[in-house]
Amino acid sequence: NHPKFQKAVKIIDRIESCGGEAYIVGGAVRDYLAERPIGDVDLATSFPPEKIQKIFDKVIPVGIEHGTVLVRFESESFEITTYRTETGYKDYRHPDEVVFVKTIKEDLARRDFTMNAMALDQYGNVIDPFNGQKSLAEKEIISVGNPSVRFNEDPLRIMRALRFASQLNFTIEEKTLAAIKIQSSLLEHIAIERTALELEKLYGGAGFRKTVPLLLDSGVARCLPLFKEDPSLLNNLPKQPLKSFKELAAFFCFLKPSWTIKRWKTEWKLSNRTGHSAAEILNSIVNYKKSNGLTPWLVYQLSEDLYESFQNVAAALDLAGKHELTKEMDDIYHSLPIHSQKELAFHAEDLINTKDHLAKGPWIQRGMGQLERLVVERRIKNKYSELKEWADQWNPPESN
Ligand code: ATP
Ligand code: MG
Repeated sequence: NHPKFQKAVKIIDRIESCGGEAYIVGGAVRDYLAERPIGDVDLATSFPPEKIQKIFDKVIPVGIEHGTVLVRFESESFEITTYRTETGYKDYRHPDEVVFVKTIKEDLARRDFTMNAMALDQYGNVIDPFNGQKSLAEKEIISVGNPSVRFNEDPLRIMRALRFASQLNFTIEEKTLAAIKIQSSLLEHIAIERTALELEKLYGGAGFRKTVPLLLDSGVARCLPLFKEDPSLLNNLPKQPLKSFKELAAFFCFLKPSWTIKRWKTEWKLSNRTGHSAAEILNSIVNYKKSNGLTPWLVYQLSEDLYESFQNVAAALDLAGKHELTKEMDDIYHSLPIHSQKELAFHAEDLINTKDHLAKGPWIQRGMGQLERLVVERRIKNKYSELKEWADQWNPPESN
């Protein structure tokens, strides 16, 4: 009934009318059966990627070497992957070769957990060779096949098990968990960026309170950048989920300032943008703590697109309640006399004109910054005459 499923069914019909097979697979089937919101709808097919490229108009070969193409269909995207198994993973990162197989069952067998190894046909029948539905009912994450073998093939599955446990608020089945404990050090082979994505989802999940302690118990913490130096820091449970890696970095950097944002950035290979945002959030949190609450200057300085992250981190640190903080920030924001330097009734040019004996230099931005703050804090009105009066008497610092 879901609109995305209706379109997927049309795709399946077209593949079948050409003599192939296709099913909805993976996360969409899991989320549909668990009555959770559905994300991407992925399909598995018996047809090779070249054949899919022939029968659909808009096909992007996103991962053709693994048999995956992206089909644009009725203004939506669907990943379609040819039935395959995965053989060796000698470097722990990439399957050595991709072997296409004949049946959906063989394809399902390569998937990580039983709840992710189900398929849905166009009539709504569930193909469930590994009892994924039972695992959903019992709220358990269970490896498909022998967990040690599966984690050895692809250690990222260790992090995936933990993040699903958090997102779905499930437990990890005993044998699967035992294998995680024994093999946690294999995570060292996984690209940091991929581990970071899973950790981010883990901290954003409804069950993070139960899952974060598992990072410690299972030994996974000892393989995580920075945390390996002091795993006990993970004992500081956020009071509410953290929704992105920048929030995570700001949260832990507030608790342990010697792990500077710079180190977070290098060790976790964060993008410049994430690093910048984390630093901005952290700076606001530190100021919040210092001034014992919000100030107009804090609200003014923080980029608007980081308000929510700031609120999440403050709430996670138990410095404030999220709702009260949101309301208070909103009120302060709306009563700010200006929202950016551009709105000042006095511009850099005006400031330069008051000091025509001085060569241009960093003093200009300093002076503008002081004016900005004076106006934001309502110590001067945003009126040209008053700002000019201040500028006339202001002596730029000797150092410039
Ligand atoms: P999400 O809702 O977070 O996207 P998902 O289950 O769809 O969850 P994806 O990473 O999108 O997760 O992968 C889609 C499917 O591919 C999974 O449901 C699983 O069947 C399979 N899969 C993904 N990663 C692995 C892996 N590392 N090992 C085995 N199977 C995997
Ligand atoms: Mg998915």
